[in-house]
Amino acid sequence: MNNGIVNKRIEAAKILAMNSIENVICPECHQIFLKVQDVAINLIIERHLSCDICGAYNALRINLSKK
Ligand SMILES: [Zn+2]
Repeated sequence: MNNGIVNKRIEAAKILAMNSIENVICPECHQIFLKVQDVAINLIIERHLSCDICGAYNALRINLSKK
């Protein structure tokens, strides 16, 4: 895995963290939008991003208590 892919993944995660309904194209296969699934655990949201075509996966945590 090269740094370019990693950076694109981070960028995709940042965009989705700011706006959950914004569509982000898969950073690896560029064929479909990432599927977003939010799992809320108290004041923390775990956001799971996945691609149905190439299987790319990423996840991030959003801590709502810091806002
Ligand atoms: Zn993909």
